[in-house]
Amino acid sequence: MKRLKKISFSILVIITLIVLAAIIILPEKLDKKFNTVTLQAPYTVSTEAQQLYNSLDFVADMHCDALLWKRDLLKRNDFGSVDIPRMLEINMGLQVFTIVTKAPKNMNFDNNTGDTDQITIPYILQLRPISSWFNLTERALSQCKALHQFEEESKGKFRVIETSSDLQQFLSDKQKNKKITSGFLGIEGMHALSGKLENVDKLYDAGVRMMAPVHFFDNKLGGSAHGVSKEGLTDFGRQVIKKMQEKNMIVDVAHSSPKLLDDIFEISTKPIVSSHTGVQGTCETVRNLSDKHLKKIAASGGLISIAMFKPATCDSTVASSVKAIKYCIDLVGADYVALGSDFDGAIEIHTDVTGLPLYVEEMLKIGISVEDIKKVMGENVKRFMLKNLPK
Ligand SMILES: [Zn+2]
Repeated sequence: MKRLKKISFSILVIITLIVLAAIIILPEKLDKKFNTVTLQAPYTVSTEAQQLYNSLDFVADMHCDALLWKRDLLKRNDFGSVDIPRMLEINMGLQVFTIVTKAPKNMNFDNNTGDTDQITIPYILQLRPISSWFNLTERALSQCKALHQFEEESKGKFRVIETSSDLQQFLSDKQKNKKITSGFLGIEGMHALSGKLENVDKLYDAGVRMMAPVHFFDNKLGGSAHGVSKEGLTDFGRQVIKKMQEKNMIVDVAHSSPKLLDDIFEISTKPIVSSHTGVQGTCETVRNLSDKHLKKIAASGGLISIAMFKPATCDSTVASSVKAIKYCIDLVGADYVALGSDFDGAIEIHTDVTGLPLYVEEMLKIGISVEDIKKVMGENVKRFMLKNLPK
């Protein structure tokens, strides 16, 4: 009996040690494994490009998934693509932090269901609040809270922008002090509503100002470009879009099926954004926007934010993203084009956030005007946010 007790105790100790080791080691290991860059920092660019970059008043990026990894964003990390010290180093004005709440196993571009989820176990190992382990709305709220916590602990260096007056204030303060930066909350995949319309209010109250109906699988709102049905908006989807736009929340069409895009444009009364996309004109894949939809985004007064990874641009180079930028400028004009990296989106990115001057260099190289470069690098996002965020 004594021996049996001893064995049970030893097994318990071993299990505890394994779980502890997993909690300590795995989250950072997964972060490092999934969030890689093609070109390693530090980056050097021509004097002309660096001078132009240094002269930029406002640099912005419309998409990153950094909140998913429970990394300390107040620390300068030597892995992943974005954190607050690196944003300050590169004089970034605004980074959109988009929340991912569910990702199917064996994710692919063509055919995913929402039956499985790869996020649950890492979320538990990251010791997130228990309420968020199996509830997608709580999962989103926990990431909203994390960003606000960084704001609180940043000693004034980092702000979360929720209204146009927040942004106005930030811009005027940044004129006096370059060493401040800001973030903005979005969500990719409105399965984060857990099927309830009233959760739009809950997420709005937590600071979310932009949401994409779908991510990698179909949900209660409609069809993903990577789902099974490829359907348009459901009745619930229509109700959500209407409610969001009444509240001046931005609708993000990234990952939507073409039919879903058509349905959104049909009922939308406000400018539409794609937070991270490539274009069919330079890279023909199901995740990228057709000319028809690029024109519709521009006609709505929205933003086409160009992504910085191979599956969206068909090559692992800065040049491939800039080619897509040029394509959009030629098609709809420079006022609707922005950056939408997908930093830390579990994908290999061309460069980390400190590589943004390389985009200026490449745009100069292919003859994009200085005025248009400024628009793409952040002026368009600034103008768009000031005009379209709640007051
Ligand atoms: Zn995405």
